[in-house]
Amino acid sequence: MKNPYTKAQFVTSAPRLSRCPPDQGVEIAFAGRSNAGKSSALNTLTQQKTLARTSKTPGRTQLINFFRLDDQRRLVDLPGYGFAKVPEAVKREWQRNLTQYLNRRQSLAGLIVLMDARHPLTEHDEQMLNLAEAAGLKIHILLTKADKLKKSQAERTLQAVSEALAAGELDASVQLFSATKRQGLEELIRVLNDWTGQ
Ligand code: GDP
Repeated sequence: MKNPYTKAQFVTSAPRLSRCPPDQGVEIAFAGRSNAGKSSALNTLTQQKTLARTSKTPGRTQLINFFRLDDQRRLVDLPGYGFAKVPEAVKREWQRNLTQYLNRRQSLAGLIVLMDARHPLTEHDEQMLNLAEAAGLKIHILLTKADKLKKSQAERTLQAVSEALAAGELDASVQLFSATKRQGLEELIRVLNDWTGQ
C-alpha cells in the first residue's frame, strides 16, 4: 500500500492556537497519554526516526508540533497527557490551550487517540475523547503495543473497547496497532487517507 505520510516534514511548534500555522487545508492530530507509544507510532507511520524525536526534544513536549505533508495537509503531534510531574497550573493552562485548539481549529479533521492496549480508557483518555467529541471531531483509536498481548487477549481488548465506546455513545473507530510489528499500519493509513481526502 502506498504511504503518503513518509513525506512528513517538521514545520513548527506552537504553544497555543494563536501561534499555529495558517488555518487552511486539512490536518489530523495525534494524542495520547505519555508513554502510550505515540512517538513510535508516528515513526512507523512516517518511516522517520527523527520526526517524533523532534516532538520529544526538551522544550517541545508541551507544544503542538506540526508536520507538513504537502501544501494542504498536515499531521499534528499533541503533547502527551497524564504526566503526573507537571504542576497543576501548567496542566490547567495546557487544558485551556488544548480545548481551544480542538474547538476552533477549522482545518482539524480528526483526532487519532493512542492508548496502551494493556490499559485502555483511563480517566485521562476519557477526558480527551469527550473533548474531541464535544468539538465535533472524527475520532479513531489505536490500541498500541498490541504485540505485548496474546492474539486472543488483543482481540478481546478490541471488542471490549468497542463495546465500552458504544455503551458511552461515543462515535469512534478503533483498531489494534503495534509499532514494532508494523501491525495495523495499513488500517491507520486508510483512515488518514479517508479523512484527508486522498
Ligand atoms: P510516547 O511517550 O507516547 O511517545 O511513547 P513512545 O513511543 O516513546 O513509547 C513508550 C515506550 O513504549 C517505549 O519504551 C517504546 O519502545 C515502547 N513501545 C512503543 N510502541 C511499542 C510497540 O508497538 N510495541 C512494544 N513492544 N513497545 C512499544
